[in-house]
This record gives sequence, structure tokens and C-alpha cells, in this order.
Amino acid sequence: MSKELFWTDTHAHLEFFGSDGHVEEIVDRAFENGVKRIITIGDSLESSQHGVKVSERYDHVYAAVGIHPHEGRLVNPEVIAELRELAQSPKVVAIGEIGLDYYRDHCTPSEQRNAFTEQVKLAKELDLPIIIHDREADFDVFEILDNESFPLSKALLHCFSGSAETATLALERGFHLSFSGTVTFGKSTELKDVAMEAPLDRIMIETDSPFLAPEPYRGRTNEPSLLPAVGECIAEARGMTPEEFSVATSNSASAFFGLPAVN
Ligand SMILES: [Zn+2]
Ligand SMILES: [Zn+2]
Repeated sequence: MSKELFWTDTHAHLEFFGSDGHVEEIVDRAFENGVKRIITIGDSLESSQHGVKVSERYDHVYAAVGIHPHEGRLVNPEVIAELRELAQSPKVVAIGEIGLDYYRDHCTPSEQRNAFTEQVKLAKELDLPIIIHDREADFDVFEILDNESFPLSKALLHCFSGSAETATLALERGFHLSFSGTVTFGKSTELKDVAMEAPLDRIMIETDSPFLAPEPYRGRTNEPSLLPAVGECIAEARGMTPEEFSVATSNSASAFFGLPAVN
């Protein structure tokens, strides 16, 4: 018996879609396209608050709360206290997105490291997994997690676009990887190989919407309803049906974020 499509978008910025009416349209359209669960991501205090509100309104929307490395200098004890408060919602499943971005320097590396460290501590205290934004900062990300003795099985490298070598190292160390639309781009042959070979129970998929629309929608505003294009690309490379791959990656997400398993 063939399985039904059940995609999970583990990384969408629903706050971008603004007014509530528009968010509803985005969430409904995704659901109709088989995207049965969405995790909306916090990158600031405002977007974290928005995410919790939206997740409490829709059964199949969950939230992660956190401050992006671009906003690192804003992290202080009051902000951490607000995140801790927001995380009390039963719909909050992770702290994120947090991490380091040395490619863009909106904040200094030391501001970013401080913001990341404080939020890793919070996740540990709350026993929540973390969603990591890592751009050109692998070594420092690994070092901070080690210093904080954070369990790496609870760490997800989102929008993974590193080399095969980095993927092997990250998987050996226990990380989970999430792939976005970049895997569908023509030039991404190495990344496609990584997505093809990584253990199924360690990988997830995401849109990172509104950014990074997958082929053949490249250039337009991305949204969760376009997630199947990411999943179908990897499913084909792995010789799986979209249905099988959607359920397998949704179950990776279920195990990682503590959500109900999918049949
Ligand atoms: Zn990111
Ligand atoms: Zn993001």
C-alpha cells in the first residue's frame, strides 16, 4: 500500500508573510500541497513572539524561538528571560535559529559567540533541541557546543550547504542536517550527493522561506507550499518515492523535535 504525502517544513519564517490573513493563506496552501507540518522560526524577539502566536492558532504549526546571529548584539539577560517565557508554550519545539555567521558581519564575531552561547545554555536548561545557522563558522560552532557540553544529537544544522567532508564530520559527531532549496540548484552536485548518502533518520528538509525558492521556482518568493520540490529532488536521487521520503523525513523531524510519529 502506498503511503500518503506528509512533508514537514522544518524551517519557515512565517513572520515575513505579515498580516494574519496572509499567513492563513500560506499555511492552507502548504497543507493542500502535502506540507502537513511547519516549524516557524524565530530570528528576533518579535518574530519569536509572532511564531508562538501563529503556532497556537494552527494545529500543524510549531514554533522555534531564538535570536539570529545577525541580531547577536541584542542578546542580554532580559532577552533570554523573554525567550525562556515564550518557550513555556507547548507549541515551542526548539531554540532557533541561533548560531554564527562570519560571512555577513552585522555583528562582531564576539557578539555572535556571546549570543550563541547564552542561547545554547538556555536550550540545555529547557532540554530543547537547537536549530543552528552556521555560515563559515563550523569550527567556532563546534567549539561552543563542546564547551557547553551540549548533546549534539539535539543539534540541527539548518540549510546545510557544506562539503561532503563537513557533512561526514557533522554526522559522525551526532548532528542532524536539514536541506533547503539549494540542493535543487544545478551546480549543487556535491550537496545532492551528501543528501543522497546521509542516513535517513538524520536528515530533514526545509524551505527557509521566504528565501531560497527551489528549482523550478528560483527567483520568486519562497513559501512552505514549495517544499515538495526540495523533497522530490532528494527522493529521486535516493531512489525513493516522494511519499516514502516525505514520511521518512517527517519521522526524523518527529524524533528530533518530539512531535507525534507519522505512519
Ligand atoms: Zn539561517
Ligand atoms: Zn532561517
